[in-house]
Amino acid sequence: MIIKPKTRGFICLTAHPVGCERNVAEQIAYVNRSGTIDGGPKNVLIIGASTGYGLASRIVASFGCGANTVGVFFERLADGDKPASAGWYNSTALKKYAEKEGLIAENINGDAFSDEVKEKTIEAIKSKLGQVDCVVYSLASPKRTDPRTGETYRSVLKPIGGKFKSKTVNVDSGEIGDVEIESATAEEIVGTVKVMGGEDWELWMQTLLRENVLSDRAKTVAYSYLGPKITKPIYSEGTIGRAKEDLDRAADAITHMLANIGGRAHISVNKAVVTQASSAIPVVPLYIAILFRVMREKNLHEGCIEQMYRLFKNHLYGSDESVDTDGRIRIDNLEMREDVQEAVIEIWNKASTENLRGITDIDAYRKEFLKLFGFGIGGIDYDADVSL
Ligand code: NAD
Repeated sequence: MIIKPKTRGFICLTAHPVGCERNVAEQIAYVNRSGTIDGGPKNVLIIGASTGYGLASRIVASFGCGANTVGVFFERLADGDKPASAGWYNSTALKKYAEKEGLIAENINGDAFSDEVKEKTIEAIKSKLGQVDCVVYSLASPKRTDPRTGETYRSVLKPIGGKFKSKTVNVDSGEIGDVEIESATAEEIVGTVKVMGGEDWELWMQTLLRENVLSDRAKTVAYSYLGPKITKPIYSEGTIGRAKEDLDRAADAITHMLANIGGRAHISVNKAVVTQASSAIPVVPLYIAILFRVMREKNLHEGCIEQMYRLFKNHLYGSDESVDTDGRIRIDNLEMREDVQEAVIEIWNKASTENLRGITDIDAYRKEFLKLFGFGIGGIDYDADVSL
């Protein structure tokens, strides 16, 4: 079958198996070029392992640390003439490459919020790895059903305490316009915290500890974002920011919970990158298109794999123990540098439909977005028949 991109706003409905495999191979090659990570983990569970930061974490664990992995994700299989989702193809490729290196890579496809998937994961760890010494929590989801009550919650991306009006870009048409987003209701705030906050991370860690599948001094890390002034009302001070505050709370609770085995929970604040999750946040694509231009010009550009390699090598398993005043690891340090943010604001204020392509990296943003789904990669014949 010949597969072409089919985009609808901030999602792409198709994915290319050969392109997705190439994306995984490129990230593996980056890690191989960068060298092995001494003292890294040996058995890693990654929750949200199929795309974005979770996939990059799994690649660093496997190929940088030589770790066996269990990856949990929620992806769509191919159905008739509909291709599978990108994360499915990524995870299939990851498994193939890891097994070639003699590593174990178990894939679990299902709802990570459910008891059933937690049980399946424990079984897989017990039978294949024994225990895990690192747990990466990298979920980004629009909804969650609480397994204890059966109630389903939805996360929204809204400001709190007033309307938010900002410049934004329509990525498809390249038009700059204004976006106005109503303030979240109390119920929407609760919903977002339930989905994207720390409750499910705590449930995972409780279950893993109870089932004795965490080794002594096991570490766990969850990912957060703070970001600049421009996105503050919609991000750090909005509903998703509330959820990330709850993640901070959960990190303390989990460190306390793991005290007997000498384990520890970390929060890593990562930089803004193009992923399926970030493209859904209003205002963020324009910010990222400008940030990429500025960081490339200053030779500071990083994507998911560069960030995750740095996190594992320097922070989680390295000598850099620096944290911010709230105890978080800050690998967003280059994004948040004063000179970077000043340059971003200058472009932000000038950006218009007419000059968008000249002063921002909107073309690179579009290219990276399509690349998430395996499209637009050099050397791949997209007119060739591929098996789904
Ligand atoms: P992503 O959309 O690329 O990946 C999300 C992952 O979660 C996928 O593997 C998906 O299969 C999985 N998933 C979603 N719902 C699931 C469910 N119910 N059960 C099992 N798996 C499920 O997202 P991302 O951008 O890599 O985000 C991961 C984390 O990193 C999030 O906490 C996000 O806030 C954080 N983060 C992202 C950015 C960014 O710019 N993208 C920046 C800083 C921090």
